[in-house]
Amino acid sequence: MIRQYELVERVKAYDPTADEGALNRAYVFSLKAHGAQTRASGDPYFSHPLEVAGILTGLKLDCDTIVTALLHDTVEDTLASLDEIERQFGSPVARLVDGVTKLSQLELQSDQTKHAENFRKFVLAMSKDIRVLLVKLADRLHNMRTLSFIENQDKRRRIANETMDIYAPLAERIGLKTITEELEDLAFAEINMDARNSVQARLDFLREEAGDIVPRILAAIREMLAGHRFRAVVEGREKRLYSIWRKMEIKNIAFEQLSDIVAFRIIVDSESDCYQALGFVHGAYQMVPGKFKDYISTPKPNGYRSLHTTVMGPERQRIEIQIRTREMHEEAELGVAAHWAFKQADAGSDGKQYRWLRELLDILDNASGPEEFLEHTKLEMFRDQVFCFTPHGDLINLPRGATPGDFAYAVHSHVGDTCVGAKINGRMVPLRTPLSNGDQVEIVRSTVRAPSPTWEGFLVTGKARASVRRFIRSKQRKEYETLGRAIAEKAFREIGETWAQTVIDQALPRLKLKNETELFVTLGQGLMTSQEFSSACFPTRRRPGVASRALSLVRGRSGSTKAGDAAIPIRGLLPGVAVHLAECCSPLPGDRIVGIITTGIGVTVHTIDCDTLVSFGDTPERWLDLSWDKDEAENSVHVGRLSLVVANETGSLGEMSMSIAKNNGNINNLKITSRSAEFFDFLVDVEVQDSRHLTDIIAALRAIPCVSSVERARS
Ligand code: MN
Repeated sequence: MIRQYELVERVKAYDPTADEGALNRAYVFSLKAHGAQTRASGDPYFSHPLEVAGILTGLKLDCDTIVTALLHDTVEDTLASLDEIERQFGSPVARLVDGVTKLSQLELQSDQTKHAENFRKFVLAMSKDIRVLLVKLADRLHNMRTLSFIENQDKRRRIANETMDIYAPLAERIGLKTITEELEDLAFAEINMDARNSVQARLDFLREEAGDIVPRILAAIREMLAGHRFRAVVEGREKRLYSIWRKMEIKNIAFEQLSDIVAFRIIVDSESDCYQALGFVHGAYQMVPGKFKDYISTPKPNGYRSLHTTVMGPERQRIEIQIRTREMHEEAELGVAAHWAFKQADAGSDGKQYRWLRELLDILDNASGPEEFLEHTKLEMFRDQVFCFTPHGDLINLPRGATPGDFAYAVHSHVGDTCVGAKINGRMVPLRTPLSNGDQVEIVRSTVRAPSPTWEGFLVTGKARASVRRFIRSKQRKEYETLGRAIAEKAFREIGETWAQTVIDQALPRLKLKNETELFVTLGQGLMTSQEFSSACFPTRRRPGVASRALSLVRGRSGSTKAGDAAIPIRGLLPGVAVHLAECCSPLPGDRIVGIITTGIGVTVHTIDCDTLVSFGDTPERWLDLSWDKDEAENSVHVGRLSLVVANETGSLGEMSMSIAKNNGNINNLKITSRSAEFFDFLVDVEVQDSRHLTDIIAALRAIPCVSSVERARS
């Protein structure tokens, strides 16, 4: 464990102006706050914040960051409050501690709202101060170093995965190479111990095989450069287990050469020296084509700069050589943290001192919005989510691709059911617009309009989709019920009965239905014909002609009228001959008609334009000229059949039936022949005076926006 004076000395070593008093007070504050708490390792808990502070002194971070490191777990795990920290250490430290605390809670919370709330605080803290992340990374590094003390294997695995997926990439993103590599190796050991051990074994073998070749190569390169009177530091560094493994994974190659294990490095004084050194290296050793990379003229996205080349080295071994300046080297190892040490010299005022922080923020801001930043850092925890705000600033988190419709239902199902539009960041947008991180979403509501089934096409969340479906179902059920009640009442009128509840109640068990509502819904949906209904109500009664045809809608060819039936007012028939109206064309008074004689069946009446007549073209002897008895026809009702395609929208059924009723048509029966998310296909039997009447109804229906097509049914 680092001692108090050691810590202070370490900070003073790179920052002589550091507030020694604050460091000492933070040390004591944290020591007291954590008291007798212990870690899984059995160590006093205080050893943890102290080690974290120690890691950060390795990055030469400023005094506030070190103080924050010492205090980082006090708010979360002890009785200490943020107010107290602010009083004792000032608001900058309090803000940093708060940021780290939220970030830590993020790991622990499962409750979604809190999760999202903390995420927001994290992002906000992040965008204000990268030091929050630096402390968090150091915290994670120490926790990973002591991971083996945790007994629960699932917990160890979870922490290791999180480290691999989130923290190591974050560290890499800001250029903390050494921390990245250590995090990766520690996580690798937990996640895939077998792979790690096999890489290690292979490494040991190659090392043994190579013998003392590395020192010999180093000596040869140094000698070569000295021959040019060139000043440089030459070193050899073994690659990390995980980076070897990753290379093997990505490139699907075995590692067998020295160049796979050891990177040689030439560190020089200036950028131009880098290229000069490269010249010497290429002059002395044959370069391996395709391996040279100039990250000085084109730095990596995280700022990494260096020359990389692979040559056949002095021992006739392929070796990789990295050439860079001391400054580039520090940056490569420490990333953004390196800037602190280097820019401190010319940092006069406090503002300037944190220039690198702002520079980093610029990188984060410009290279990426929070969303892109998260994507970049492979924050898998959040990658599939978007975080949006209500106008009051409440956070709503949704899966990626979610729309304002999902947002509305996430707020409350009532908000969703009454949602008609949305504003994103103050601008009206279509409800299907995908939301982005940080969007402020305002839902425009109305009680007049209602969710449409088409919404299901763009809603992403299960909750919203289920709510819309439930809403539509209940709305439709109401419409079916209304329609069914009308059909039922009409069935009574038709046979001259007055509406009697007792009759209905008696019919219900016969129809195997639970209650009146179910009866009406069944009728309204066309699952039962009005004929079946009235038969159930009055089982002993004879079937009326008109209703009997309706039955055929559902049951096929079972309803045909008898000869002389008053319902078929046709002239030109021989007495005693049975007559049927053809199912295929459903002739109506006003239609031009023709009869076809079939022995044993009688006369079937078709409209003159019915396709079926084609098959009787070569048997003219069977044709019979018929006409309607106009006077008779006027006093009777006839059933015309319509084929409708209606938008699957709330209210469309109602509009359809209302329009038919307004035009004095009665829906005798109705059947849904197909149903999709967008449309219903209906067959509707309508009682009309004649074909003209039906044509009027068709015209009226065509005027309704939700009716996409309507034709006389020809089947
Ligand atoms: Mn901690």
